[in-house]
Amino acid sequence: MNGQFFISLLNPGIGFLFAIAFFLLWLNRRERYVAYAAGAYTASALAFLIQDVGPVLPMELQRLPANVGFLLTGVLFAAAIIKRYDLPVPWRAMGVTTAVSTAIFIWFLLGQPGIAARILTISIGAGIIASMVVVALWPVEKRHLIDRVLFWVAAFSALNLIVRPVVLLSLRGGFDNYVGFQQSIYWTTVQFTQAMVSVAAAISLMVAVAIDQIAELRREADGDNLSGLLNRRGFEAQADAALRRCHDEAQPVALLVADLDRFKSINDNHGHAVGDAIIAAFGAHVRQIGPAHMVAGRIGGEEFALLVPGAGIEAARQLAEAVRTGLQAACTDRIPASLCPTASLGIAIAPPGATLSALMQEADQALYEAKRTGRNRVRTYTPKPVRLTANGG
Ligand code: GH3
Ligand code: MG
Ligand code: MG
Repeated sequence: MNGQFFISLLNPGIGFLFAIAFFLLWLNRRERYVAYAAGAYTASALAFLIQDVGPVLPMELQRLPANVGFLLTGVLFAAAIIKRYDLPVPWRAMGVTTAVSTAIFIWFLLGQPGIAARILTISIGAGIIASMVVVALWPVEKRHLIDRVLFWVAAFSALNLIVRPVVLLSLRGGFDNYVGFQQSIYWTTVQFTQAMVSVAAAISLMVAVAIDQIAELRREADGDNLSGLLNRRGFEAQADAALRRCHDEAQPVALLVADLDRFKSINDNHGHAVGDAIIAAFGAHVRQIGPAHMVAGRIGGEEFALLVPGAGIEAARQLAEAVRTGLQAACTDRIPASLCPTASLGIAIAPPGATLSALMQEADQALYEAKRTGRNRVRTYTPKPVRLTANGG
């Protein structure tokens, strides 16, 4: 056993470490694309192990499983990235590419042995697979930096894998001598870029997985399972941000607060499950009729808030009335119609610079008015007129 042996364990070792890292990330949430990534690096580790450490077989036959392993790495890694965007994975096209590359590879291994030709075959095959990622991701809106990074890593890999061998062939007309090829500066550079690209790809995808998992946790932390709306924390955070945006853009914005009427008696007389079904129905109803850009949350037991950017007093009243009058119909597929409660709503329109808490207080006052004047109605907050003092005014 010599030093070279340990050096040759470097690539399989790195592959296995990435595979383990993706496997641990997969254990967390069991997303399929993370499993593909773990599979990709397992395949890469095994391929390097066969190529660099495995016994030398007659007619260099160990090169066949090693190179199929490299292609499989590309296929699984491409599948991981594409699946992250919930796009259809082109399994068939990737399978055909792998099969054709392998067939040509076997020809240059057994039929008409040629080292450079084999390397080019696998390189171009892997490059075609990488360009399938580029094609799949091309139309996707790349909202976050990591989306652009993943795209460019795929694009650079495709370019590196396809253009490089073509340039190589046209410049040198191929290599007959393996040692000469291996020792060329060109090939060393190629190996270096290849290693950097594959590590960059692994790290980018790992960052993407971490970002996805944090976003998912945030969604869970900010959401309310029963109503399908935001919870109070999520509502306050998102409503605050939306309110600021509206002020910046000098857009009107309305806040609606809704409270189910005499809800306690429904719970007391018909049980908590009926109460829960009503809360769920209310959430679904609001999501269905509200505009897509509204921020809606369950801010208390049977109390809801809707912040509607762009809505003036008329739009807000219309929405509030639609919430109120549509509730009965929204409940009937979950509970008997006779058990469905009514709702009272308060509206406040944000004056320039209003804070969310001030707006909530005003909408609450209007809601209180709606309750006080008989429930099952909509009231709008009206600012008290400014009283002018007699002297000096
Ligand atoms: P009002 O018309 O004045 O609003 O009367 P109310 O009975 O609706 O008002 P109150 O605030 O006294 O009662 C709210 C009730 O909501 C108390 C509790 O039983 C019920 N509640 C709060 N959270 C939940 C929940 O998550 N599920 C169910 N089923 N009931 C809840
Ligand atoms: Mg109530
Ligand atoms: Mg209440």
